[in-house]
Amino acid sequence: MIDLHIHTTASDGTDTPEEVIRKAKKAGLSAISITDHDTAAGAAEAMRLSIKYAIEVVPGIEISSEFEGEEVHILGYFIDPDSPKLQPVLDWVIKDRNTRNERIIRKLADDGYDISLEELKESYPGAVIGRPHIAGKLLEKGYVNSIQQAFDEFLTDGKPYFLPRTYLPVEEAVKVIRSAGGAAVVAHPLQYNFTQEKLYRFLKETKGMGVVGMETVYSKYSEEETKYLENIADEMMLIRTGGSDYHGTRKPDIEIGKGEGTMRVPDSYLADLKTVKKR
Ligand code: AMP
Ligand code: FE
Ligand code: FE
Ligand code: ZN
Repeated sequence: MIDLHIHTTASDGTDTPEEVIRKAKKAGLSAISITDHDTAAGAAEAMRLSIKYAIEVVPGIEISSEFEGEEVHILGYFIDPDSPKLQPVLDWVIKDRNTRNERIIRKLADDGYDISLEELKESYPGAVIGRPHIAGKLLEKGYVNSIQQAFDEFLTDGKPYFLPRTYLPVEEAVKVIRSAGGAAVVAHPLQYNFTQEKLYRFLKETKGMGVVGMETVYSKYSEEETKYLENIADEMMLIRTGGSDYHGTRKPDIEIGKGEGTMRVPDSYLADLKTVKKR
């Protein structure tokens, strides 16, 4: 079994790449992909460790982007983490994130919630910082009792301290993954609450941009939902991929390789990914 969707401390996961690899070995997985939000640093680190631990590590990324005004996530597999094509785009994303983080923190400070960007950077060195880290600080300082409360009452869209990001158009996300040598895959297709019609349009259009697969197996998806997605994948001639979306203690119900318990991703999904990548 494998797990092709994992976050580390390079983004908003709470385990380092090495801790992730140890857990993957313990779970008996033969391969994993590190797919941090908007950074390939975690993937690069995991690749360096893959020989020591004798586990296959697929370098990956998960890029937040926008389709018809809504946030969608595109996974990139087999990207070159050092690709000169990738870094300028990610730098742009991180600059936008930093501007947004500063504005959120200022808004919080105005209302007496004392968090600074410096302490965030200190607590999460090298990480792509986002709302989960701000939520972590709100919790640490006792302003909320849980990460969930921080989102529900402060940071979620519609709440006082939510600010939007500027997302890459989905075609830009697909393009940069491909130009960094990667295979682009639609992440968790049922998380966007699209109507069936919009989901088909999204998949058709992104396939036209070069997307080769879609995530059919995911921690949150029931057998029926996976079956539903498999049928769509077959119809659209997209390959199936799968992963847990492990975030460590930030999503405590999710385990590497097992999701909420019953998730299993077969090795053949990785073989298929390698085949389409060659095309
Ligand atoms: P950002 O990219 O900074 O907008 O943060 C998005 C991340 O926050 C997602 O990848 C999730 O890991 C996390 N997140 C978003 N909404 C929630 C929520 N309601 N509860 C917990 N975590 C959330
Ligand atoms: Fe996340
Ligand atoms: Fe995602
Ligand atoms: Zn993810």
